[in-house]
Amino acid sequence: MKALSVLGSTGSIGTQTLEIVDDFPDRFQVVALTAGRNLNLLIDQIRRHRPEVVALADGDLVATLRERLLALDPQDRPAPLPVLLGGCEGLCAAAAWPTADLVVTGIVGCAGLLPTLAAIRAGKDLALANKETLIAAGPVVLPELARSGSRLLPADSEHSAIFQCLQGTPWADTARLSTGIATPGLRRIQLTASGGAFRDWDAADLVKATVADATSHPNWSMGRKITVDSASLMNKGLEVIEAHYLFGIDYDQIEIIIHPQSIIHSMVELVDSSVLAQLGWPDMKLPLLYCLSWPERLETPWRRLNLTEVGQLSFRQPDPAKYPCMQLAYAAGRAGGTMPAAMNAANEQAVALFLEEQITFMDIPRLIERVCDRHRVDLKADPALADVLATDAWARQAVRELAAGSGARPVATAAG
Ligand code: NAD
Ligand code: MG
Repeated sequence: MKALSVLGSTGSIGTQTLEIVDDFPDRFQVVALTAGRNLNLLIDQIRRHRPEVVALADGDLVATLRERLLALDPQDRPAPLPVLLGGCEGLCAAAAWPTADLVVTGIVGCAGLLPTLAAIRAGKDLALANKETLIAAGPVVLPELARSGSRLLPADSEHSAIFQCLQGTPWADTARLSTGIATPGLRRIQLTASGGAFRDWDAADLVKATVADATSHPNWSMGRKITVDSASLMNKGLEVIEAHYLFGIDYDQIEIIIHPQSIIHSMVELVDSSVLAQLGWPDMKLPLLYCLSWPERLETPWRRLNLTEVGQLSFRQPDPAKYPCMQLAYAAGRAGGTMPAAMNAANEQAVALFLEEQITFMDIPRLIERVCDRHRVDLKADPALADVLATDAWARQAVRELAAGSGARPVATAAG
């Protein structure tokens, strides 16, 4: 029985993780849950999974949660009530909860950084969905992993595919995962991308893209932020940096290819020129289950892949002019140090403003580029945690100021 702490339990990753727990009640149990603001769903989860601890990002909601749990019918009310915690300290305590074996990081954005570090410092293994944490703070997270011996198992479908392919090589060694040391025998990684909501749009039409357009993903059902990142291909750019830190591979050896069917979840090329790929229907439960069961494989009744039903697998190069975020991410990754933290925070803030309809879709890359340009003079090559946090806060503020400084649709106007 593996005990799980599920961070961000009310989100897309969190709810799918809990579905897996439902599917394998003899293998997995939940000891800790954390959530943002969705109390209704969280209370359902508490009733069903009876965790030992529950933490809310917003500490002010803890009293309401306690009242609502106490008001449940006695047969529905967990007895004793779970320990209820709030704020960042509460999230960190749930992440480091003593009885947890594995922490699933389903918080969105850099808000996941401190809880992730708390889990690592407590020596927990992690199923890493919250990629922003590794991207913003790779130079801080990697040495912490080396110190604690925690293993970072990739839940992102592409990195899970790469991880699964590497199990089939003579160099399979998870101790090497996220050490920053190059995986031997690995020549190249090819990350596949669905192309997101705009894959069939002309680049010229993207200036008209609305929030509704950007949040309807053709292949995957995910949270709103990552769905917008998929539309801009920033998600793939972030995944390039994620792959660099997880597999110790140079940016020149990581490629992005558009694969509209999302059946091949990524590929590795080995030094003998052999290429290995991992295939399946697009379903996040597969990579999540592999994190939970690794190194074992558990039998599932899930839909089996039928390639004759798929018919065709196609591939094409992404157009850099259509997807400027992709190049911004490569450039930030190559600059290293605090630059990925600045780029990631600028993206998080710009996407939030886009979702609030304060800026246009194409303002997102323009704002990120301006913030990264400004950060160049302050870049810290070998940052401490405080440098990453300061860079993150600065970049968000810089985006807000740039956006506010030039009206509701600022950068588009400024750029003519
Ligand atoms: P989501 O928006 O559906 O869920 C986010 C969760 O985090 C919710 O439980 C929410 O309450 C919580 N949360 C939000 N803001 C918070 C804050 N400031 N502090 C603490 N908790 C907060 O997001 P998602 O799609 O599940 O994505 C979660 C992470 O997993 C992201 O980093 C994303 O990039 C990654 N990921 C998701 C998918 C997917 O299929 N959804 C695939 C690959 C990677
Ligand atoms: Mg992915």
